[in-house]
Amino acid sequence: MTQECSLCGKAFDPQQPLTDPAQLAGCHLARQEYGDEGLLCADCLTSRGRLAMMYRSDCFD
Ligand SMILES: [Zn+2]
Repeated sequence: MTQECSLCGKAFDPQQPLTDPAQLAGCHLARQEYGDEGLLCADCLTSRGRLAMMYRSDCFD
């Protein structure tokens, strides 16, 4: 079962486990701040998480 990413439109599998720290950070943000958890593909989560880790280190201990 695949889903279309609401950001880039790419088909992805929402059941796929996230392992990359940047993906997990992106997932955390999607849940806590953006309210779009499960709607973004792993690539978009990764870029979001990576940016957050670079510029918002205060959020991740
Ligand atoms: Zn995407």
